[in-house]
Amino acid sequence: MLKKIFNQLNIFAQCRKYNLPLWECPYFLFLIMGFVIIIVTVTTYLIGVRYIVDPLVVTLIVLLLDIILFIITFTIIHGFIKLAEVARMKTEFISVVSHQLRSPISNFKWTIELLMSGRLGQIEEKQFDYLKILKENNNRMEKLINDLLIVLKIESGEFHLNKKEISLTEIINELISESGLFAKALNVEVRFQFQKNLSKISIDPYYIKLAIKNLLDNGIRYIKGKGVIEIKLEIKKEKVYFEVKDTGAGIPKNDQKHIFQKFFRSANIMKHQTKGSGLGLYIAKSIIKKSGGEIGFRSLESNGSTFWFTLPLK
Ligand code: ADP
Repeated sequence: MLKKIFNQLNIFAQCRKYNLPLWECPYFLFLIMGFVIIIVTVTTYLIGVRYIVDPLVVTLIVLLLDIILFIITFTIIHGFIKLAEVARMKTEFISVVSHQLRSPISNFKWTIELLMSGRLGQIEEKQFDYLKILKENNNRMEKLINDLLIVLKIESGEFHLNKKEISLTEIINELISESGLFAKALNVEVRFQFQKNLSKISIDPYYIKLAIKNLLDNGIRYIKGKGVIEIKLEIKKEKVYFEVKDTGAGIPKNDQKHIFQKFFRSANIMKHQTKGSGLGLYIAKSIIKKSGGEIGFRSLESNGSTFWFTLPLK
């Protein structure tokens, strides 16, 4: 019993368990409220003895006030602890499910590719089409699981960059060629304008590629019909400046403040593009911020969007 109480009093460990900053942690708030109750008790007592003659009445008033304050504090903090516990369980649930789904998804991937390659026997055109659908859906699941795992890393503070000196121009060229077929299928032309002789910068190649991919894919996917994507890479105010401008659906004014929030998708997009998780921009923002940069956008509904970010040169 005593051990349990001491464990409960280990505020830092309790707050770490819920992965919450100190000022949002129920146990820390409980401690603060304890101090508040003590101050209120002393103040009430001092004021009481000045204006009320009978010290017994003062003591009774102070005692009553303390009991009421304690009950209110206890009820509120208990509610907070329950909420924090639910949030922790949700995070653990996503983590377990995501890790468990990873291996069946990659098994599906290799099996589908093996079947499509024809090495296990010739397959008919119709069967090939069905396998293509299976492959696309499996890729979507794989992306969602990978995105969820990155979000978990970001939120648990276990998101670290492995920086290397690399050329952003090369990364962007790679991405443009990788998304070539996808853009062509959607009738989207991708143009890339870059400043020559841009020096290499120290960034995490995997994550920066992911951030740019998320911005570029959105540009391509959210164009209705024929369209153009213009990518720009240059030095601006002694920083690397990147932008991707599209001629797509744009973002409604009321939705703009939510755009970098997890799982947010704007109503105009959900009407014509059901595929998506609302995690891409949240991840891109976390990567750019962690790399020491800034990220933002300009957009007008039905008039396209420009997403940009900056990165430090050194
Ligand atoms: P997803 O694309 O999977 O929905 P994102 O986090 O990448 O998730 O984007 C969140 C939302 O922001 C999108 O659903 C869409 O409503 C809006 N959005 C992002 N990029 C664009 C864009 N280039 N044009 C129009 N809307 C966009």
